[in-house]
Amino acid sequence: MKKDLVVLFYPKTEPDNIYRNLPISILKLASQVIASGYRVRVVDSRIEEDYEPVIRQIAGETLCFGVSAMTGFQINHGIKASEIAKRINHDIPVVWGGWHASLLPSQTLENDFIDIAVIGQGERTLSELLGVLANGGDFKNISGIAFKDQNGAVIQNTCRRFEDIDNFAPVNFEAINIDKYINESELGKRTISWNTSQGCPFCCGFCCTPVLYGRNWASLSVERILGEIETLISRFNVDSILFAEDNFFTNRERVSAICTEIVKRKLKFHWSTDGRIDQILRLEPELFSLLNESGCHKIYLGAESGDQDVLNLIDKKIKREDTYKAVDLLGRHNIKAELFLMVGFPLNPKKDLNETLKMISGIKRNYPNHQATPFLYTPYPGTKLFDLAKNYGLRPPGSLRAWGNWSLLAPISPWIDKSYLDRVNRLVKFYLPFAYPSDSLRKRMEKGVSGYFYRIMHRIAKFRIEKNILIFPIEWQVVKFIYYKVMLRYNIFKNLSVPR
Ligand code: SF4
Repeated sequence: MKKDLVVLFYPKTEPDNIYRNLPISILKLASQVIASGYRVRVVDSRIEEDYEPVIRQIAGETLCFGVSAMTGFQINHGIKASEIAKRINHDIPVVWGGWHASLLPSQTLENDFIDIAVIGQGERTLSELLGVLANGGDFKNISGIAFKDQNGAVIQNTCRRFEDIDNFAPVNFEAINIDKYINESELGKRTISWNTSQGCPFCCGFCCTPVLYGRNWASLSVERILGEIETLISRFNVDSILFAEDNFFTNRERVSAICTEIVKRKLKFHWSTDGRIDQILRLEPELFSLLNESGCHKIYLGAESGDQDVLNLIDKKIKREDTYKAVDLLGRHNIKAELFLMVGFPLNPKKDLNETLKMISGIKRNYPNHQATPFLYTPYPGTKLFDLAKNYGLRPPGSLRAWGNWSLLAPISPWIDKSYLDRVNRLVKFYLPFAYPSDSLRKRMEKGVSGYFYRIMHRIAKFRIEKNILIFPIEWQVVKFIYYKVMLRYNIFKNLSVPR
Protein backbone atom coordinates (compact mmCIF):
# COMPACT_ATOMS: atom_id res chain seq x y z
CA MET A 1 0.00 0.00 0.00
CA LYS A 2 1.28 3.43 -0.93
CA LYS A 3 1.99 5.62 2.09
CA ASP A 4 0.16 8.93 2.03
CA LEU A 5 0.20 10.19 5.62
CA VAL A 6 2.17 13.32 6.48
CA VAL A 7 2.81 13.92 10.17
CA LEU A 8 3.40 17.54 11.15
CA PHE A 9 4.90 17.78 14.61
CA TYR A 10 4.81 21.04 16.58
CA PRO A 11 7.19 20.95 19.57
CA LYS A 12 6.45 22.58 22.92
CA THR A 13 7.50 26.22 23.00
CA GLU A 14 8.17 26.39 26.76
CA PRO A 15 8.54 23.86 29.57
CA ASP A 16 5.09 24.81 30.82
CA ASN A 17 2.79 25.77 27.95
CA ILE A 18 -0.22 27.35 29.63
CA TYR A 19 -1.36 29.57 26.76
CA ARG A 20 -1.62 27.56 23.54
CA ASN A 21 -1.86 29.77 20.53
CA LEU A 22 -2.76 28.32 17.17
CA PRO A 23 0.34 27.06 15.29
CA ILE A 24 -0.66 29.00 12.18
CA SER A 25 2.33 27.96 10.08
CA ILE A 26 1.48 24.30 10.74
CA LEU A 27 -2.19 24.87 9.87
CA LYS A 28 -1.20 26.49 6.56
CA LEU A 29 1.24 23.71 5.74
CA ALA A 30 -1.35 21.08 6.62
CA SER A 31 -3.88 22.79 4.35
CA GLN A 32 -1.38 22.76 1.48
CA VAL A 33 -0.54 19.10 2.06
CA ILE A 34 -4.23 18.11 2.01
CA ALA A 35 -4.79 20.16 -1.15
CA SER A 36 -1.88 18.25 -2.72
CA GLY A 37 -3.71 14.95 -2.15
CA TYR A 38 -2.19 13.58 1.07
CA ARG A 39 -3.57 12.90 4.53
CA VAL A 40 -2.26 14.93 7.47
CA ARG A 41 -1.93 14.24 11.16
CA VAL A 42 -0.87 17.27 13.21
CA VAL A 43 0.76 16.39 16.54
CA ASP A 44 1.02 19.44 18.77
CA SER A 45 3.08 18.35 21.77
CA ARG A 46 1.63 21.19 23.86
CA ILE A 47 -1.69 19.36 23.61
CA GLU A 48 -0.64 15.74 23.10
CA GLU A 49 2.09 15.71 25.72
CA ASP A 50 2.45 11.95 25.56
CA TYR A 51 3.19 11.90 21.85
CA GLU A 52 5.34 8.79 21.66
CA PRO A 53 2.42 6.30 21.42
CA VAL A 54 0.82 8.51 18.75
CA ILE A 55 3.97 8.52 16.61
CA ARG A 56 4.40 4.79 17.20
CA GLN A 57 0.85 4.06 16.09
CA ILE A 58 1.04 5.95 12.80
CA ALA A 59 4.68 5.30 11.89
CA GLY A 60 3.79 2.42 9.55
CA GLU A 61 1.73 4.64 7.24
CA THR A 62 3.89 7.77 7.47
CA LEU A 63 5.23 9.11 4.17
CA CYS A 64 7.01 12.03 5.80
CA PHE A 65 7.59 13.23 9.37
CA GLY A 66 7.77 17.03 9.46
CA VAL A 67 8.93 19.19 12.36
CA SER A 68 8.69 22.98 12.60
CA ALA A 69 10.93 24.56 15.23
CA MET A 70 12.19 27.97 16.22
CA THR A 71 15.65 28.44 17.67
CA GLY A 72 15.58 27.55 21.38
CA PHE A 73 13.37 25.31 23.47
CA GLN A 74 11.33 23.83 20.59
CA ILE A 75 14.43 22.11 19.26
CA ASN A 76 14.58 19.74 22.25
CA HIS A 77 11.17 18.17 21.69
CA GLY A 78 11.67 18.34 17.93
CA ILE A 79 14.78 16.17 18.22
CA LYS A 80 13.07 13.82 20.67
CA ALA A 81 10.12 13.28 18.32
CA SER A 82 12.40 12.84 15.30
CA GLU A 83 14.41 10.25 17.20
CA ILE A 84 11.25 8.35 18.15
CA ALA A 85 10.10 8.31 14.52
CA LYS A 86 13.50 7.14 13.28
CA ARG A 87 13.86 4.45 15.93
CA ILE A 88 10.48 3.00 14.99
CA ASN A 89 11.31 3.05 11.31
CA HIS A 90 14.68 4.27 10.11
CA ASP A 91 13.31 4.81 6.60
CA ILE A 92 10.80 7.51 7.57
CA PRO A 93 12.06 10.73 5.96
CA VAL A 94 12.34 13.36 8.70
CA VAL A 95 12.00 16.91 7.39
CA TRP A 96 12.67 20.02 9.47
CA GLY A 97 11.37 23.47 8.57
CA GLY A 98 10.65 26.75 10.32
CA TRP A 99 13.04 29.36 11.67
CA HIS A 100 15.92 27.28 12.87
CA ALA A 101 16.27 24.88 9.96
CA SER A 102 16.03 27.87 7.61
CA LEU A 103 18.75 29.78 9.45
CA LEU A 104 21.18 26.88 9.88
CA PRO A 105 20.23 24.10 7.43
CA SER A 106 23.65 22.40 7.24
CA GLN A 107 24.16 22.19 10.97
CA THR A 108 20.56 20.99 11.41
CA LEU A 109 21.29 18.12 9.04
CA GLU A 110 24.33 17.06 11.05
CA ASN A 111 21.80 15.57 13.45
CA ASP A 112 21.43 11.83 12.81
CA PHE A 113 17.64 11.88 12.98
CA ILE A 114 17.03 14.56 10.34
CA ASP A 115 17.20 14.00 6.57
CA ILE A 116 15.98 17.17 4.89
CA ALA A 117 15.78 20.87 5.83
CA VAL A 118 13.24 23.20 4.22
CA ILE A 119 14.47 26.78 3.94
CA GLY A 120 12.07 29.76 4.01
CA GLN A 121 8.43 29.43 2.89
CA GLY A 122 7.41 25.79 3.26
CA GLU A 123 4.12 25.35 1.38
CA ARG A 124 5.32 24.89 -2.21
CA THR A 125 8.57 23.20 -1.22
CA LEU A 126 6.83 20.60 0.94
CA SER A 127 4.32 19.81 -1.83
CA GLU A 128 7.13 19.15 -4.29
CA LEU A 129 9.07 17.17 -1.73
CA LEU A 130 6.08 14.92 -1.03
CA GLY A 131 5.77 14.31 -4.77
CA VAL A 132 9.35 12.99 -4.86
CA LEU A 133 8.91 10.96 -1.67
CA ALA A 134 5.68 9.38 -2.92
CA ASN A 135 6.50 8.87 -6.59
CA GLY A 136 10.29 8.98 -6.83
CA GLY A 137 12.50 11.65 -8.35
CA ASP A 138 15.57 13.65 -7.52
CA PHE A 139 15.81 15.94 -4.49
CA LYS A 140 18.27 18.01 -6.50
CA ASN A 141 15.34 19.36 -8.53
CA ILE A 142 13.59 20.88 -5.52
CA SER A 143 14.66 24.42 -4.75
CA GLY A 144 14.60 25.63 -1.15
CA ILE A 145 15.86 22.46 0.52
CA ALA A 146 19.08 21.01 1.89
CA PHE A 147 19.44 17.24 2.17
CA LYS A 148 21.94 14.48 2.82
CA ASP A 149 23.11 12.41 -0.14
CA GLN A 150 23.78 8.66 0.08
CA ASN A 151 27.20 9.30 1.60
CA GLY A 152 25.79 11.62 4.23
CA ALA A 153 27.19 14.78 2.60
CA VAL A 154 24.93 17.83 2.86
CA ILE A 155 23.74 19.29 -0.42
CA GLN A 156 22.01 22.67 -0.41
CA ASN A 157 19.91 23.43 -3.48
CA THR A 158 19.24 26.88 -4.90
CA CYS A 159 16.98 29.15 -2.85
CA ARG A 160 13.30 29.23 -3.66
CA ARG A 161 11.86 32.56 -4.77
CA PHE A 162 9.45 34.11 -2.30
CA GLU A 163 5.95 33.33 -3.52
CA ASP A 164 2.70 35.27 -3.21
CA ILE A 165 0.87 33.60 -0.32
CA ASP A 166 -2.42 33.95 -2.18
CA ASN A 167 -1.14 31.13 -4.44
CA PHE A 168 -1.14 28.68 -1.55
CA ALA A 169 -4.08 26.46 -0.64
CA PRO A 170 -6.96 28.01 1.31
CA VAL A 171 -6.99 27.23 5.03
CA ASN A 172 -8.54 23.84 5.69
CA PHE A 173 -10.39 24.31 8.97
CA GLU A 174 -10.55 20.53 9.46
CA ALA A 175 -6.77 20.11 9.48
CA ILE A 176 -6.46 21.07 13.15
CA ASN A 177 -8.90 21.05 16.03
CA ILE A 178 -9.31 24.85 16.05
CA ASP A 179 -11.42 24.82 19.24
CA LYS A 180 -8.39 23.74 21.27
CA TYR A 181 -6.65 27.01 20.44
CA ILE A 182 -9.40 29.41 21.43
CA ASN A 183 -8.44 31.09 24.70
CA GLU A 184 -9.83 33.75 26.98
CA SER A 185 -7.74 36.92 26.75
CA GLU A 186 -7.96 40.64 27.42
CA LEU A 187 -9.58 40.90 23.97
CA GLY A 188 -12.49 38.59 24.70
CA LYS A 189 -13.79 35.26 25.97
CA ARG A 190 -12.93 33.38 22.76
CA THR A 191 -9.72 34.72 21.24
CA ILE A 192 -7.76 33.08 18.46
CA SER A 193 -4.40 33.95 16.87
CA TRP A 194 -4.61 34.36 13.12
CA ASN A 195 -2.48 35.60 10.27
CA THR A 196 -3.10 37.49 7.03
CA SER A 197 0.38 38.25 5.65
CA GLN A 198 3.96 37.01 5.62
CA GLY A 199 7.38 38.67 5.66
CA CYS A 200 8.56 42.23 6.15
CA PRO A 201 10.36 44.72 3.90
CA PHE A 202 12.46 46.13 6.77
CA CYS A 203 15.73 44.80 8.08
CA CYS A 204 16.07 45.36 11.83
CA GLY A 205 19.44 44.07 12.97
CA PHE A 206 18.15 41.62 15.60
CA CYS A 207 15.26 40.12 13.62
CA CYS A 208 15.11 36.79 11.77
CA THR A 209 12.17 37.67 9.51
CA PRO A 210 14.22 39.41 6.78
CA VAL A 211 16.68 36.51 6.87
CA LEU A 212 13.86 34.03 6.34
CA TYR A 213 11.93 35.84 3.63
CA GLY A 214 14.58 38.08 2.07
CA ARG A 215 12.78 41.35 2.92
CA ASN A 216 9.76 40.26 0.89
CA TRP A 217 6.22 40.78 2.06
CA ALA A 218 2.94 39.35 0.78
CA SER A 219 -0.67 39.48 1.87
CA LEU A 220 -3.70 37.31 1.31
CA SER A 221 -6.38 39.04 -0.74
CA VAL A 222 -8.82 41.10 1.29
CA GLU A 223 -11.64 38.82 0.12
CA ARG A 224 -9.83 35.77 1.42
CA ILE A 225 -8.97 37.44 4.74
CA LEU A 226 -12.59 38.43 5.30
CA GLY A 227 -13.80 34.95 4.36
CA GLU A 228 -11.53 33.44 7.01
CA ILE A 229 -12.65 35.96 9.64
CA GLU A 230 -16.30 35.19 8.86
CA THR A 231 -15.67 31.47 9.25
CA LEU A 232 -13.89 31.99 12.58
CA ILE A 233 -16.84 33.99 13.89
CA SER A 234 -19.73 31.98 12.50
CA ARG A 235 -18.33 28.48 12.88
CA PHE A 236 -16.06 28.75 15.90
CA ASN A 237 -17.87 31.47 17.77
CA VAL A 238 -14.71 33.53 18.04
CA ASP A 239 -15.24 37.00 19.56
CA SER A 240 -11.70 38.33 19.21
CA ILE A 241 -8.65 37.84 17.00
CA LEU A 242 -4.97 38.48 17.57
CA PHE A 243 -3.46 39.03 14.13
CA ALA A 244 0.04 37.67 14.73
CA GLU A 245 1.90 39.05 11.73
CA ASP A 246 5.43 39.97 10.81
CA ASN A 247 4.25 43.41 9.74
CA PHE A 248 0.49 44.10 9.60
CA PHE A 249 0.72 47.77 8.55
CA THR A 250 3.08 47.35 5.56
CA ASN A 251 0.36 48.49 3.17
CA ARG A 252 -2.06 51.14 4.45
CA GLU A 253 -4.54 50.60 1.60
CA ARG A 254 -4.75 46.95 2.58
CA VAL A 255 -5.41 47.81 6.25
CA SER A 256 -8.03 50.32 5.20
CA ALA A 257 -9.73 47.79 2.91
CA ILE A 258 -9.78 45.10 5.63
CA CYS A 259 -11.28 47.50 8.19
CA THR A 260 -13.82 48.85 5.70
CA GLU A 261 -15.02 45.34 4.89
CA ILE A 262 -15.25 44.39 8.58
CA VAL A 263 -17.48 47.41 9.15
CA LYS A 264 -19.50 46.88 5.96
CA ARG A 265 -20.16 43.22 6.78
CA LYS A 266 -21.10 44.17 10.36
CA LEU A 267 -18.60 41.71 11.84
CA LYS A 268 -18.47 42.28 15.57
CA PHE A 269 -15.19 41.28 17.22
CA HIS A 270 -12.22 42.85 18.97
CA TRP A 271 -8.80 42.53 17.44
CA SER A 272 -5.18 43.42 18.02
CA THR A 273 -2.01 43.25 15.98
CA ASP A 274 1.57 44.49 15.78
CA GLY A 275 2.89 47.69 14.21
CA ARG A 276 6.08 49.58 13.55
CA ILE A 277 6.21 52.93 15.32
CA ASP A 278 6.96 54.89 12.12
CA GLN A 279 4.03 53.22 10.35
CA ILE A 280 1.64 54.12 13.17
CA LEU A 281 2.81 57.74 13.08
CA ARG A 282 1.96 57.91 9.38
CA LEU A 283 -1.63 56.67 9.70
CA GLU A 284 -4.25 59.21 8.66
CA PRO A 285 -7.10 60.22 11.03
CA GLU A 286 -9.62 58.46 8.74
CA LEU A 287 -7.73 55.21 9.13
CA PHE A 288 -7.75 55.57 12.91
CA SER A 289 -11.53 55.97 12.73
CA LEU A 290 -11.73 52.79 10.69
CA LEU A 291 -9.48 50.95 13.14
CA ASN A 292 -11.83 52.00 15.95
CA GLU A 293 -14.98 51.13 14.07
CA SER A 294 -13.69 47.72 13.05
CA GLY A 295 -12.87 46.75 16.65
CA CYS A 296 -9.10 47.35 16.88
CA HIS A 297 -8.40 47.26 20.60
CA LYS A 298 -4.64 47.11 20.93
CA ILE A 299 -1.44 47.44 18.89
CA TYR A 300 1.86 45.86 19.90
CA LEU A 301 4.58 48.37 19.07
CA GLY A 302 8.12 47.33 18.22
CA ALA A 303 9.71 50.07 20.34
CA GLU A 304 12.71 47.76 21.01
CA SER A 305 14.71 50.10 23.31
CA GLY A 306 14.69 53.38 25.19
CA ASP A 307 18.34 53.89 24.26
CA GLN A 308 18.91 55.84 21.03
CA ASP A 309 22.32 54.20 20.54
CA VAL A 310 20.61 50.80 20.46
CA LEU A 311 17.92 52.03 18.07
CA ASN A 312 20.70 53.21 15.75
CA LEU A 313 22.62 49.97 16.17
CA ILE A 314 19.65 47.81 15.20
CA ASP A 315 18.76 50.15 12.32
CA LYS A 316 15.23 50.69 13.60
CA LYS A 317 14.93 53.98 11.74
CA ILE A 318 13.09 55.72 14.58
CA LYS A 319 13.96 58.24 17.25
CA ARG A 320 13.25 57.48 20.88
CA GLU A 321 10.72 60.35 20.95
CA ASP A 322 8.73 58.63 18.19
CA THR A 323 7.73 55.93 20.67
CA TYR A 324 6.17 58.52 23.00
CA LYS A 325 4.39 60.11 20.03
CA ALA A 326 3.01 56.77 18.81
CA VAL A 327 1.77 55.82 22.28
CA ASP A 328 0.15 59.24 22.64
CA LEU A 329 -1.48 58.95 19.22
CA LEU A 330 -2.92 55.51 19.98
CA GLY A 331 -4.11 56.68 23.40
CA ARG A 332 -5.93 59.62 21.81
CA HIS A 333 -7.67 57.19 19.48
CA ASN A 334 -8.66 54.90 22.28
CA ILE A 335 -6.37 52.06 21.20
CA LYS A 336 -4.15 50.41 23.79
CA ALA A 337 -0.43 50.12 23.14
CA GLU A 338 1.89 47.42 24.37
CA LEU A 339 5.58 48.05 23.84
CA PHE A 340 8.00 45.29 22.93
CA LEU A 341 11.32 46.25 24.51
CA MET A 342 14.66 44.52 24.85
CA VAL A 343 17.54 45.12 27.22
CA GLY A 344 21.07 43.74 27.38
CA PHE A 345 22.55 44.65 24.00
CA PRO A 346 26.32 44.22 23.75
CA LEU A 347 27.28 47.92 23.36
CA ASN A 348 26.43 49.11 26.86
CA PRO A 349 23.89 46.86 28.60
CA LYS A 350 23.78 48.93 31.78
CA LYS A 351 22.96 52.10 29.88
CA ASP A 352 20.33 50.49 27.68
CA LEU A 353 18.59 49.01 30.73
CA ASN A 354 18.51 52.39 32.48
CA GLU A 355 17.28 54.24 29.40
CA THR A 356 14.62 51.62 28.73
CA LEU A 357 13.41 51.76 32.32
CA LYS A 358 13.17 55.53 32.01
CA MET A 359 11.03 55.06 28.92
CA ILE A 360 8.75 52.56 30.66
CA SER A 361 8.20 54.77 33.70
CA GLY A 362 7.69 57.86 31.50
CA ILE A 363 5.04 56.08 29.49
CA LYS A 364 3.32 54.44 32.46
CA ARG A 365 3.15 57.77 34.30
CA ASN A 366 1.29 59.41 31.44
CA TYR A 367 -0.59 56.42 30.02
CA PRO A 368 -1.27 53.93 32.82
CA ASN A 369 -3.40 51.75 30.55
CA HIS A 370 -0.59 51.05 28.12
CA GLN A 371 1.79 48.18 28.77
CA ALA A 372 5.54 47.80 28.42
CA THR A 373 7.74 44.89 29.45
CA PRO A 374 11.42 44.42 28.73
CA PHE A 375 12.85 41.09 27.55
CA LEU A 376 16.46 40.11 27.46
CA TYR A 377 18.01 40.56 24.02
CA THR A 378 18.94 37.18 22.54
CA PRO A 379 21.19 37.08 19.45
CA TYR A 380 19.85 34.84 16.68
CA PRO A 381 21.96 33.32 13.92
CA GLY A 382 21.80 34.94 10.51
CA THR A 383 20.81 38.36 11.86
CA LYS A 384 22.99 41.43 11.32
CA LEU A 385 23.69 41.75 15.03
CA PHE A 386 24.86 38.18 15.39
CA ASP A 387 28.32 38.94 13.98
CA LEU A 388 28.67 41.91 16.29
CA ALA A 389 27.67 39.67 19.20
CA LYS A 390 30.44 37.25 18.20
CA ASN A 391 32.91 40.16 18.29
CA TYR A 392 31.75 40.75 21.86
CA GLY A 393 32.64 37.19 22.80
CA LEU A 394 29.49 35.22 21.96
CA ARG A 395 30.26 31.57 21.26
CA PRO A 396 27.45 30.06 19.15
CA PRO A 397 26.46 26.48 19.95
CA GLY A 398 28.17 23.88 17.79
CA SER A 399 25.21 21.53 17.32
CA LEU A 400 21.46 21.51 16.83
CA ARG A 401 20.99 19.96 20.26
CA ALA A 402 22.99 22.75 21.91
CA TRP A 403 20.79 25.37 20.20
CA GLY A 404 17.92 23.90 22.22
CA ASN A 405 19.31 25.74 25.26
CA TRP A 406 19.37 29.09 23.45
CA SER A 407 16.73 30.97 25.34
CA LEU A 408 15.36 34.31 26.36
CA LEU A 409 15.37 32.99 29.90
CA ALA A 410 18.98 31.88 30.20
CA PRO A 411 22.13 34.01 30.30
CA ILE A 412 23.81 33.17 27.01
CA SER A 413 25.48 36.47 26.18
CA PRO A 414 28.95 36.91 27.70
CA TRP A 415 28.37 40.65 28.23
CA ILE A 416 25.48 39.81 30.59
CA ASP A 417 26.57 38.76 34.08
CA LYS A 418 24.49 37.12 36.78
CA SER A 419 23.80 40.35 38.66
CA TYR A 420 22.42 41.95 35.46
CA LEU A 421 20.23 38.94 34.82
CA ASP A 422 18.96 38.96 38.43
CA ARG A 423 18.16 42.64 38.12
CA VAL A 424 16.14 42.12 34.92
CA ASN A 425 14.34 39.17 36.54
CA ARG A 426 13.41 41.25 39.58
CA LEU A 427 12.19 44.06 37.39
CA VAL A 428 10.06 41.87 35.16
CA LYS A 429 8.66 39.64 37.89
CA PHE A 430 8.26 42.07 40.75
CA TYR A 431 9.10 45.78 40.52
CA LEU A 432 7.43 46.64 37.21
CA PRO A 433 4.18 44.70 37.84
CA PHE A 434 3.87 46.24 41.32
CA ALA A 435 4.91 49.75 40.27
CA TYR A 436 2.44 49.78 37.38
CA PRO A 437 -0.27 47.30 38.33
CA SER A 438 -2.48 45.60 35.80
CA ASP A 439 -6.26 45.94 36.09
CA SER A 440 -6.50 42.68 38.05
CA LEU A 441 -3.74 43.66 40.50
CA ARG A 442 -5.34 47.09 40.87
CA LYS A 443 -8.60 45.41 41.91
CA ARG A 444 -6.77 43.27 44.45
CA MET A 445 -5.12 46.40 45.88
CA GLU A 446 -8.53 47.58 46.98
CA LYS A 447 -9.46 44.48 48.95
CA GLY A 448 -8.93 43.45 52.59
CA VAL A 449 -5.70 42.47 54.30
CA SER A 450 -3.89 41.51 51.12
CA GLY A 451 -4.82 44.94 49.69
CA TYR A 452 -2.53 46.58 52.31
CA PHE A 453 0.31 44.37 51.23
CA TYR A 454 -0.19 45.22 47.56
CA ARG A 455 -0.48 48.95 48.25
CA ILE A 456 2.75 49.03 50.26
CA MET A 457 4.60 47.08 47.58
CA HIS A 458 3.16 49.34 44.90
CA ARG A 459 4.52 52.46 46.60
CA ILE A 460 7.97 51.00 47.19
CA ALA A 461 8.25 49.59 43.66
CA LYS A 462 7.09 52.81 42.03
CA PHE A 463 9.48 54.91 44.09
CA ARG A 464 12.39 52.63 43.21
CA ILE A 465 11.65 52.55 39.47
CA GLU A 466 11.04 56.26 39.14
CA LYS A 467 14.13 57.21 41.16
CA ASN A 468 16.12 54.41 39.55
CA ILE A 469 17.18 53.08 42.96
CA LEU A 470 17.39 49.36 42.42
CA ILE A 471 20.21 48.33 44.75
CA PHE A 472 19.58 46.27 47.93
CA PRO A 473 16.24 44.79 46.83
CA ILE A 474 15.26 43.86 50.39
CA GLU A 475 11.50 43.82 49.80
CA TRP A 476 11.94 41.44 46.86
CA GLN A 477 13.91 39.05 49.10
CA VAL A 478 11.34 39.38 51.89
CA VAL A 479 8.38 38.85 49.56
CA LYS A 480 10.06 35.89 47.92
CA PHE A 481 10.72 34.35 51.31
CA ILE A 482 7.24 35.01 52.72
CA TYR A 483 5.43 33.98 49.59
CA TYR A 484 7.36 30.97 48.44
CA LYS A 485 8.65 29.58 51.73
CA VAL A 486 5.80 30.38 54.11
CA MET A 487 2.50 31.16 52.40
CA LEU A 488 2.61 28.55 49.68
CA ARG A 489 3.97 25.96 52.07
CA TYR A 490 1.33 26.52 54.75
CA ASN A 491 -1.40 27.49 52.32
CA ILE A 492 -1.86 30.93 53.90
CA PHE A 493 -3.76 33.58 51.93
CA LYS A 494 -4.57 31.20 49.12
CA ASN A 495 -5.85 34.07 47.01
CA LEU A 496 -2.79 36.24 47.45
CA SER A 497 -0.51 36.04 44.48
CA VAL A 498 2.85 37.53 43.75
CA PRO A 499 3.82 38.17 40.14
CA ARG A 500 6.36 35.50 39.29
S1 SF4 B 1 11.44 43.69 13.76
FE1 SF4 B 1 9.51 43.94 12.69
S2 SF4 B 1 9.86 45.65 11.32
FE2 SF4 B 1 11.87 44.93 11.93
S3 SF4 B 1 12.47 43.46 10.36
FE3 SF4 B 1 11.50 42.30 11.99
S4 SF4 B 1 9.38 42.11 11.39
FE4 SF4 B 1 10.27 43.76 10.17
